[in-house]
Amino acid sequence: MKRIQVRAYGKINLCLDVLRRLENGYHEVEMVMQQILLHDDVDVKWSEGTRQTRSEADDAFQIEVSTNRPYLPRDERNLAYKAAKQMYLAYGAERQGKVRIDIKKRIPVAAGLAGGSCNGAAVLHALNLLWGLRLKLPELCAVGAELGSDVPFSLMGQAKANPELGLADEPMASHCAIARGTGTDLEPIAGLKSHLLLTKPPMGVSTAEVYKGLELDSITEHPNIAELKEALAGKNYRKIQKNMVNVLENFTLTRYPKVMYTKNKVKRLLGEEAVLMSGSGPTIFALCKTREEAQHACEQLKKENRETFWTRTTY
Ligand code: ATP
Repeated sequence: MKRIQVRAYGKINLCLDVLRRLENGYHEVEMVMQQILLHDDVDVKWSEGTRQTRSEADDAFQIEVSTNRPYLPRDERNLAYKAAKQMYLAYGAERQGKVRIDIKKRIPVAAGLAGGSCNGAAVLHALNLLWGLRLKLPELCAVGAELGSDVPFSLMGQAKANPELGLADEPMASHCAIARGTGTDLEPIAGLKSHLLLTKPPMGVSTAEVYKGLELDSITEHPNIAELKEALAGKNYRKIQKNMVNVLENFTLTRYPKVMYTKNKVKRLLGEEAVLMSGSGPTIFALCKTREEAQHACEQLKKENRETFWTRTTY
């Protein structure tokens, strides 16, 4: 039996723009994704099986998922399970044996923090090592893009933050990236060094529902990605804050008063600037100048939202 543990980090969107609706129902987006230190631990074990007869071949490859969140599916609806299956179909056809995946979750679920996607990415990285495939990031990202649009970014961020995967020096390994297309065309850029407050109102938001309800004509403020990229490279925090815009925010805030309430509360605690919803929500994050500031705000908000964290970006 071979085993590896991958730290599966979450992400926030420093900005998110939706450019147009595509014919296949997806949306063309442009966004800056930044990895954060809050992570799940994904433990993957591989036990090689013995050769089966043809009639037993269907059971020759097995996947088992366990997690500390009992309400999460453990079958093919779980992204970690899907990732193992996808890797098997792409690169493991001759393999027989069992993949056991245990996920210790800390990242809130359905929160806009890529919690499922980063679990899927961790399984792809793990099987790449356990099966000795030596795939580079572009090949892994091609498999990941089939699983979900946030998976390729999770792969490149995890490669940087888990040096034991042996991919940290690849050109694509990065804690921060501009994502274009459906979110899978990635340009590594300089990231943000900041303490963070994260708070998830006690509800989940469906990404599909937000995109479906979004009226593109009603968007009045678009982020300036080029300016944000420049600000990140120059560590110009004022300019970074000015360009933190998420065009999905209005829809979620209007539809879910709890999210609006939470954003206003964070603003009252930490000031008007640098408070934004991540992805399609409902998590609200704020950049904090110090760890103490993040910690103090966390203590206040935890009384209302159990899933409140102080953390920092990875860099
Ligand atoms: P994103 O930011 O990529 O849109 P998210 O953080 O909003 O994702 P997830 O935590 O990935 O959302 O959860 C979305 C859905 O995915 C949930 O309904 C959950 O049941 C399902 N899911 C499947 N596998 C997982 C997993 N391993 N961890 C968390 N959620 C999972």
